[in-house]
Amino acid sequence: MIIAPRQHRLTPADRQRIAKARAREARLVELAEVAEQLARAKPDTPANRGKPFWTHCPICKTGRINFARSSRNGHLHARCSTEGCFIFMQ
Ligand SMILES: [Zn+2]
Repeated sequence: MIIAPRQHRLTPADRQRIAKARAREARLVELAEVAEQLARAKPDTPANRGKPFWTHCPICKTGRINFARSSRNGHLHARCSTEGCFIFMQ
């Protein structure tokens, strides 16, 4: 006798949760790519520490990313000028 697994039907709320999770995941991937591009553009060298840089934001396409490496530890700090786009420290 074969017992079929119980059918699970997705509710509209389930579909909405899944769509939101996928959107969050896509945004994190996008943000990781931007962080990688900035880190590659300004690697942690003495010449790049403690200086402000900027570039256009590829995520929102309208903002300006202001970024800098800490003069103390070389951490990369970045923020887009578009409210709610992103801010991170790496
Ligand atoms: Zn942006």
